[in-house]
Amino acid sequence: MRIDLVSGFPEFFDVLDLSLVGKARRRDVVDIRTHNLRDWTSDVHRTVDDTPIGGGAGMVMKPDVWGRALDDLIGPSTPETITLAIPTPSGRPLTQRLVEDLAIRERIIIACGRYEGIDARVAEYYRGHGVRVEEFSLGDYVLNGGEVAAVALVEAVTRLIPGMVGNPESLVEESHGAAGLLEYRVYTRPVSWRELEVTENLGQQHTTHDDPEYSHGNTE
Ligand code: SAH
Repeated sequence: MRIDLVSGFPEFFDVLDLSLVGKARRRDVVDIRTHNLRDWTSDVHRTVDDTPIGGGAGMVMKPDVWGRALDDLIGPSTPETITLAIPTPSGRPLTQRLVEDLAIRERIIIACGRYEGIDARVAEYYRGHGVRVEEFSLGDYVLNGGEVAAVALVEAVTRLIPGMVGNPESLVEESHGAAGLLEYRVYTRPVSWRELEVTENLGQQHTTHDDPEYSHGNTE
């Protein structure tokens, strides 16, 4: 799988050199490329935003700059092989179902907005040209930019790529799987810690979404 991340602040993606994702990149299990949106600007100030048409606060990211970046990254590929993921607070919630679906895609390009977001015609254009456009939200709150949401997507999706997680068994009973269970509480040694004992009937008990302790408001 190849994942391209595009942002005006690509340094955000340095975390993807660490831990499991970093190792997988070095072992060529996944091909992750990061790009600076400003490389596709055409003015001396490397402008990526402009004032909103129709007024309103803040700035909007320019469709022409995004269009050049995305055309370059899509290149001669068949549009149907590409998923364009656009983080936005008004998008579809990033659930494990969506993650499983994305994990079998050939290529994902993640377009990270800033300011008031990306001109809406960008999603519309690529959707109209056969690209699968997935506008997704990390949750019901507003971040400063799409980069954190992009990193969350990359972590969740790459976990499911064969060869990524050292022990694939650990994925079988993972929370939010097809059975809708949440992983049981986990413990390790020492068995007795601060007068709290790990007894036999602790652990190995799944909870479900109906459990009162589970209150993420997930309606799936
Ligand atoms: N004014 C916009 C928010 C812009 S936030 C609104 O009210 O909808 C700027 C950028 O941060 C967005 O374009 C998006 O890329 C990202 N972002 C903010 N919150 C997000 C969330 N909950 N999930 C995914 N991306 C988010």
